[in-house]
Amino acid sequence: MAIAYIGLGSNLEDPLRQLESACAALDTLPRSRLLRRSSPWRSPPMGPQDQPDFLNAVACLKTELPPLALLDGLQSIEQRQGRVRERHWGPRTIDLDLLLMGSLRLVSERLHLPHPGIAERAFVLLPLAEVAESDLHIPGHGLLQELLDGMDGTGLQRLAWTA
Ligand code: ATP
Ligand code: CA
Ligand code: CA
Repeated sequence: MAIAYIGLGSNLEDPLRQLESACAALDTLPRSRLLRRSSPWRSPPMGPQDQPDFLNAVACLKTELPPLALLDGLQSIEQRQGRVRERHWGPRTIDLDLLLMGSLRLVSERLHLPHPGIAERAFVLLPLAEVAESDLHIPGHGLLQELLDGMDGTGLQRLAWTA
């Protein structure tokens, strides 16, 4: 059994509904249960600026799936919600990143753990702080609290769920 943190992002086709559907789908993955979800946060796009703002959230999942099977599950949810890969960091209906899985460090063709962007992205760290203990250790980066202390959260806005 492991605790996995999943980063969710959407900026197309009713992003709040996309995040809500994806959280519900996470809870139906085999051998897995959704423990908590953060608030949704509005954030300016990373990369290309000619696209809508994103809504981001982080979900905390208890799972017995091995890491690559969990990634398969995340990618099948992306497919079901109409994810199309076009531009790098371009607009998408749903993006599900496996941020962290316990204390695991892994570098393989399909999966890097922790997720490479985790320590620099306010739209990951702020929602992560809502669902994790502040003494959460991020392998290779240190304590979540220390990353939060050095972070600039300007431009992010916390919202509320409707479902
Ligand atoms: P970023 O990864 O910088 O947030 P992105 O989410 O837009 O960018 P994608 O196009 O969704 O990138 O993913 C590209 C590939 O990243 C996926 O096919 C997947 O195999 C790989 N990948 C590596 N590590 C992870 C991880 N921890 N979580 C999700 N995908 C990962
Ligand atoms: Ca991503
Ligand atoms: Ca991704």
